[in-house]
Amino acid sequence: MKTFSAFDRNRILNDMKAEQLDLLVIGGGITGAGISLDATTRGLKSGLVEMQDFGAGTSSRSTKLVHGGLRYLKQFEVRMVAEVGKERAIVYENGPHVTTPEWMMLPFHKGGTFGPFTTNIGLRVYDFLAGVKKGERREMLSPEEAVEKEPLIKKEQLKGAGYYVEYKTDDARLTIEVMKKAVEHGAYAVNYAQAIDYIYDTEGQINGVVVRDNISGETYHIHAKKIINACGPWVDDLREIDGSKQGKTLSLTKGIHLVFSKSDFPLKQAIYFDAPDGRMIFAIPRNDKTYVGTTDTRFSGDLKHPHVTVEDRDYLLDAIHANFPSVEVNKDNVESSWAGVRPLIAEDGKDPDEISRKDEIFISDSGLISMAGGKLTGYRKMAEQAVDTVTEQLKAEEGIIYSSSNTEHLPISGGETGGSKGYHAFKKKKMNEGARLGLGEKQTELLLQKYGTNIDSIFDYYTQDHPEHMDPLVFAELQYGIFNEMVLKPTDFFIRRTGALYFDIHWVKKHKESVFDYLADQFSWDANEKTKNRNELEKLILEATTPVTSNE
Ligand SMILES: Cc1cc2nc3c(=O)[nH]c(=O)nc-3n(C[C@H](O)[C@H](O)[C@H](O)COP(=O)(O)OP(=O)(O)OC[C@H]3O[C@@H](n4cnc5c(N)ncnc54)[C@H](O)[C@@H]3O)c2cc1C
Repeated sequence: MKTFSAFDRNRILNDMKAEQLDLLVIGGGITGAGISLDATTRGLKSGLVEMQDFGAGTSSRSTKLVHGGLRYLKQFEVRMVAEVGKERAIVYENGPHVTTPEWMMLPFHKGGTFGPFTTNIGLRVYDFLAGVKKGERREMLSPEEAVEKEPLIKKEQLKGAGYYVEYKTDDARLTIEVMKKAVEHGAYAVNYAQAIDYIYDTEGQINGVVVRDNISGETYHIHAKKIINACGPWVDDLREIDGSKQGKTLSLTKGIHLVFSKSDFPLKQAIYFDAPDGRMIFAIPRNDKTYVGTTDTRFSGDLKHPHVTVEDRDYLLDAIHANFPSVEVNKDNVESSWAGVRPLIAEDGKDPDEISRKDEIFISDSGLISMAGGKLTGYRKMAEQAVDTVTEQLKAEEGIIYSSSNTEHLPISGGETGGSKGYHAFKKKKMNEGARLGLGEKQTELLLQKYGTNIDSIFDYYTQDHPEHMDPLVFAELQYGIFNEMVLKPTDFFIRRTGALYFDIHWVKKHKESVFDYLADQFSWDANEKTKNRNELEKLILEATTPVTSNE
């Protein structure tokens, strides 16, 4: 088994350099992680390089739903909804810790986007297309029933509501769990390793990548039979380096989310509602927070730092006030926020909202395979298609036959509970163990959502000696992150491994010094590295809490 410890980065890069891989994946978001897992479990020797942290691109900045995209039915994207809809149950069964069913209510008001008839038909088609299991099929609610489920919704001209199941996830943790499973099966994976150039053979066919370690500054020449560009919003940049950015290109759109404390916005029930301009927006309860999103506007700014603007924020605040009249949240109640960039495939003359979310594969003359578009939810199927392309090519070129994908029934890391059925018994057992260790119910529950069956390692670290000024649970999660999830920086820990920057910013502020000191000590940071890491964390805290005034 390959390791995924932050201390092994150099060794992993050197190992990759020393071998010829079957497949090198560029980009460690959900698409790249999924491809890595699919390829490795079919027997391909695969490696992955990510220029930031795993999931630091779009895959930590989504609405965090595993869903078929009900609204795309309006655009008659039947095939996409059916395919992605079916994937929901698979993602859930393979990672029941990081994915939770969430009943969603779609209230309809006189003159709104959806009426009783269209909602009923739409949800019925959705159930059918997505193959929704019996206990989770849609119901139609009367106005009284709808208000009973969520007293905060606008009662004026309320005609009723649709009630159906989606799944809630943590996108960055889903990505890391998929990545960890790939590594467990033999994949190489390194964060902060950037593809800066390609290597070609004498016939102009791509057979390697020049990779810069963004921590040490060293470069590595990594050779592979096939290269996949899974760089999300950066896909075109990587095609450009290959000189193959031709034909279809990406169209980038930005979406933002706002986070409120439950005491300010006490939402009980997830709601899918109309903004005043007719766009559809989610309001979702999550532990003791409520988050709301998203927007859809054209984007051409800094891809690493998409910003929430004052205009974006006010748009969502207006939408909240229009649909939840008794909720008086204002800009001062926004505890945190994030912005993400959708890597969509351009379609002439369409508004951002109308561009299809379907995925596509481009193959350049040099053999670079690029995968763009798609959704978090459909990552497994996308990975299967990408790796099918690779195995078909290898069969034609070398006569090697690989198996078809075998990820449909493969639990991701932390998901080895015997599916959703086994998860409940597992959870009960671990809640008891947590209590015996002195952890509160809520604490253990949150740990289970993050680590699933890997919680035993957290419990182990929790009982070990920890630095005097460090909370023992923070120590346990950090230690696990360093040795098992390649945590290198405070931002890796506070954003992608724990989600705390978005959903518990007070916890970040409380523990940032002890986490910083521990990482500085572990990785022997010099003064320069200390300043860099401190500035980076402060910058991201500021980004999450302070919208900018100008549009990108
Ligand atoms: C606002 C918003 C809401 C969304 N909500 C949902 C939702 O609820 N459900 C859903 O299913 N989907 C949702 N999506 C879509 C989903 O988030 C994306 O489809 C998915 O995360 C894209 O993943 P990716 O791996 O392709 O891209 P990314 O996650 O961006 O990964 C690409 C990676 O490539 C890396 N990279 C770039 N250049 C290089 C290089 N030169 N060398 C090495 N690495 C490089 C980047 O650092 C990045 O980490 C949403 C998207 C947005 C923006």
